[in-house]
Amino acid sequence: LTIGVVKESRPGERRVAMVPKAVPRLARNGIRVVVEAGAGSGAALSDEAYTEAGAEIGDAWKAPLVLKVTPPTREEIAKLDKGTVLIGFLNPLSDVDGVKALADAGVTGLAVESIPRISRAQAMDALSSQSSVAGYRAVLRAADRLPRFFPMLTSAAGTVPPAEVLVLGAGVAGLQALATARRLGARTTGYDVRPEVAEQVKSVGAQWLDLGIEAVGEGGYARELTEEERAEQQRRLTEAITKFDVVVTTALVPGRKAPTLVTAAAVEGMPAGGVIVDMAGESGGNCELTEPGTDVVRHGVTITSPLNLPADMPAHASELYARNLTELVELLVDDEGKLHLDFSDEIIAGACVTGRGEES
Ligand code: NAD
Repeated sequence: LTIGVVKESRPGERRVAMVPKAVPRLARNGIRVVVEAGAGSGAALSDEAYTEAGAEIGDAWKAPLVLKVTPPTREEIAKLDKGTVLIGFLNPLSDVDGVKALADAGVTGLAVESIPRISRAQAMDALSSQSSVAGYRAVLRAADRLPRFFPMLTSAAGTVPPAEVLVLGAGVAGLQALATARRLGARTTGYDVRPEVAEQVKSVGAQWLDLGIEAVGEGGYARELTEEERAEQQRRLTEAITKFDVVVTTALVPGRKAPTLVTAAAVEGMPAGGVIVDMAGESGGNCELTEPGTDVVRHGVTITSPLNLPADMPAHASELYARNLTELVELLVDDEGKLHLDFSDEIIAGACVTGRGEES
């Protein structure tokens, strides 16, 4: 089997789907890795680093199995042969046209977002690996924008209290944000509508904010709140937020617009110089005043909504992603190193968003 590792073309994307470090393991499975020239340059990985690891530089788009990070553009889809298997973030819940374009091109698309979150698939969980990077980077951005220290500091010039950081949504990104803020010396508080995460929030040294609203949905995810619950949540959060210097929001409901947790009134109630990092910008944002992709200052509070935080830390984001894909690829090859998609496997069936059952 030959795997193609292509160069990402979306503006600002610096990750790559496979790193040199992972190539020897694929080679041991009889897999040949062909990398597009310059594919790793955004992540400081040279073509030489790939060839030294045993990969070849060449036309990666013509391989029967192509690895990508972001969803392919139409031009990229046109470079793929009919029958190609493509693995990557394919946005299956929100990019219906993109998925259709893949199907029309006869490409078998395996979306990493659709891999079932079962224990056997944990090592393939790219949503988790990238969310973890994003949670970490979100806090660094908050610290950078905040005109105050994060840690408590005692010096001859006086003592400053630690920053108060609130994280809304305590999934993978939220927990990493809490842990990172704590490592920087802030006092941390976490909130979620899934009560079972209270223990996890406490385990990273944060306090649990209990607003008395529970909304557990399917598959361990949160469900959308009712109109009344949403109003109540916004009212209680507006009250709670007044004591926080930093609010990091990560709340998402799969396939829906992100819930509005922080209203304009809540922003107004925050201390001047406060910072909100809205990690849900791509899904519409968790703060009413968010402008996805930019920084705005409203009522003296900086609201920043970065759109692709993992791309800001491409080396480790790529390394973790490559590890996720290596695990998935190993599930797709038979004992002779040939590509074989077994759709009776719930991981493969779950991930497959186009071309199921096609010869590949
Ligand atoms: P996510 O990115 O979809 O959402 C982030 C968080 O926002 C979630 O914790 C969610 O509960 C919260 N949220 C949604 N609406 C909210 C609201 N109105 N108010 C407050 N918070 C709200 O979530 P995720 O990080 O991808 O993880 C979600 C679930 O998946 C968790 O149960 C997690 O344990 C599970 N998971 C399982 C595995 C595995 O078993 N392999 C791996 C990772 C995550």
